[in-house]
Amino acid sequence: MIETKAYAAQDENTPLAPWTFERREVGPNDVQFDILYCGVCHSDLHQIKNDWFPGIFPMVPGHEIVGRVVKVGENVKGFKVGDLAATGCMVDSCRVCENCKRDLEQYCLNGSSQTYNGLEQDHKTPTYGGYSNTIVVNQDFVLHLKEGVDLAAVAPLLCAGITTYSPLRHWKVGKGHKLAVLGLGGLGHMAVKFGVAFGADVTVLSTSPKKEEDAKKLGAHHFVVTTDPKQVEAAKNTFDFILDTVSAEHDFNMYLSLLRTDGVHICVGVPPKPAQIAAFSLLGGRKSLAGSGIGGIKETQEMLDFCAENNIVSDIEMIDIKDIHTAYDRMEKGDVRYRFVIDMATL
Ligand SMILES: [Zn+2]
Ligand SMILES: [Zn+2]
Repeated sequence: MIETKAYAAQDENTPLAPWTFERREVGPNDVQFDILYCGVCHSDLHQIKNDWFPGIFPMVPGHEIVGRVVKVGENVKGFKVGDLAATGCMVDSCRVCENCKRDLEQYCLNGSSQTYNGLEQDHKTPTYGGYSNTIVVNQDFVLHLKEGVDLAAVAPLLCAGITTYSPLRHWKVGKGHKLAVLGLGGLGHMAVKFGVAFGADVTVLSTSPKKEEDAKKLGAHHFVVTTDPKQVEAAKNTFDFILDTVSAEHDFNMYLSLLRTDGVHICVGVPPKPAQIAAFSLLGGRKSLAGSGIGGIKETQEMLDFCAENNIVSDIEMIDIKDIHTAYDRMEKGDVRYRFVIDMATL
């Protein structure tokens, strides 16, 4: 077994603290890589606090993981010792269901193995995430990174990046489309970058006028303050798509009114409570309310390659792992531009 250093939560009421555990030996199809950087996702905080469902403890969060390969199994093709490697939100899936066969492992009908707070495909061995010094992952769930990329700033692409890239690709958002990005946080700032790169006319919708300058710097063409009734009125019936990255409660009916006929409101954020949606908000204008979860492995690789070719990375603040609690406090207040990334050398 491989002795592994980590930060873990022992239960939902105990803050993260140093913890040591054992990862499995490198099997014939496994890649082991030492973790250099791990992004801090809002879902890390939700899961250690049991906000969504009872978690598996001790819990080592982290699913935006980049590093360098230190060992490969005998059947591994495509990775060798010294290569860069990355892993996102999943470490395995059943491989045989209709969704896995369509490269949609994130929607595996038998349950994909989440990178942490999940179970391996034996459905009993817990998974532990990237707030740790090393990880062992089946080769099919390890992503390639190009040498020379800014590794720390690439880390958030593994969750925040693919979560916004995948729906924009699925709905073929691009030239001639008006895209609204709702919320300018970790996900939202990536959605702006991708929307602009795909050629869409991008508007940021935010409750905070202070974010306008940043939105424009990120490439957004327009900015609408959603607490200003005049600006909201002027934005009615204007967008082809709204990419909704907000994880707090909000009024879907108001946002649906901003869509043009046949417009699509795509949810990628996870508010704590179910929303009230009036049927009239949808049928007046044949509108759709949709959702999208991360992306499959093939698409995640495509996204990483696209980002490398187009110089797209996340805007980050690097932290030492001992400062994770302060980072969580600031993240809860929306006080981060735009993703914290842990320098794992500080573990
Ligand atoms: Zn995430
Ligand atoms: Zn499957």
